[in-house]
Amino acid sequence: MLIAAGVLAAILAFLLILRTSSTVSEWMASHFSRGWVTFFSKVTSVFPFSLYETLLYVAIIGCIALITVAIVFFCKKAPLRATTYLIVILLAGLGFGNVYTLTAGFSYYRETPQLPYYEAEYLTDDQKEELVFLAKFMMDDFNDIARTIERDEEGRVKGMPIDKLSALLVEEYKRLDVFDYYSTFTPRAKKITSKRIMSHMHITGVFFAPFGEANVNPLTPPSNLPVTVAHELAHSKGAMRESDANLVAYYITITSDNEYLRYSGYLACYKYLMDMILYFDASEYEKVFDFDGSIIKESVLNDAFWNKYDLLDKITEAFNDLYLKLQGQKEGTGSYVEPTLPPDTVQTPDPGGDGTLIERRYNLNTVQKMILKALDDRANDR
Ligand SMILES: [Zn+2]
Repeated sequence: MLIAAGVLAAILAFLLILRTSSTVSEWMASHFSRGWVTFFSKVTSVFPFSLYETLLYVAIIGCIALITVAIVFFCKKAPLRATTYLIVILLAGLGFGNVYTLTAGFSYYRETPQLPYYEAEYLTDDQKEELVFLAKFMMDDFNDIARTIERDEEGRVKGMPIDKLSALLVEEYKRLDVFDYYSTFTPRAKKITSKRIMSHMHITGVFFAPFGEANVNPLTPPSNLPVTVAHELAHSKGAMRESDANLVAYYITITSDNEYLRYSGYLACYKYLMDMILYFDASEYEKVFDFDGSIIKESVLNDAFWNKYDLLDKITEAFNDLYLKLQGQKEGTGSYVEPTLPPDTVQTPDPGGDGTLIERRYNLNTVQKMILKALDDRANDR
């Protein structure tokens, strides 16, 4: 058994070294991991309940049982037998580590997802007007939806059941079939039964690559649900990094013709536009971001919801942070948010005079490039 554990540990170490090569990771993600996830997604989609959740409970109970038996044997002065049970746990852990690295681990080292992006790397003062136009265009649509969308008595959007939302997003994701970055199969999202524990952990969803299963916390506030489901499905399509899954989820929601999806997408990513407007024209800021009262009320309700569930959030965040760092994400839980980039100031000689011209450059991150392109395309379609 110890030899088996040694072999599994050696394979795991080899895989972890191998995945630091972006070429190998891209190949593994787009061939092996994609094939595995697609196959198991199709198999697990047959079951209406979450197999991930079932496995989690079996693993916890199995672990407790094995540790208990080991303690009993230690007490009976049979350390060799006790150690055997502990080695079983070690073998299961190493075996899982290998499967997980093969199905999910390589994808953390992939390229940035393919999407339509604004082509420039930065914006200058010359593009300020265009930027303000696009931000207003988004805010008009956001406010229009906010005023007309169906809400409950408290003011939350009514949305739709997760099954229906999941089926809608499966259709929306077909728009990404033009890019070879993504797997063409999209599983349906499943509801987690332990929704209250999950809420106390501040978890809205979990994608489990070995089963190709996208699991969602059904208590997630309805205004966040489309982005949450789209995020978990983005993992299943091959966007494993958290910021990439968010990027893809924002794209699929804000470019949708469905108002509920766009509302959720805008709510999740308007801050990326705010940052640009603040840089170029702080005086325009309040005029552009004039939110309808219903959006503000909804945000307050969402915060109140998460404040109500606060028993396990700190410990869960610590574990998630550790997990993401083990997957090579230096920022840990900070990797969900794509950071905005520091702007540059470039001096060039004035062609018409003796002085210098100063150009301010707002460097665009991937999310901002995607949002600008999406809004520009939508505005041109009108
Ligand atoms: Zn995620």
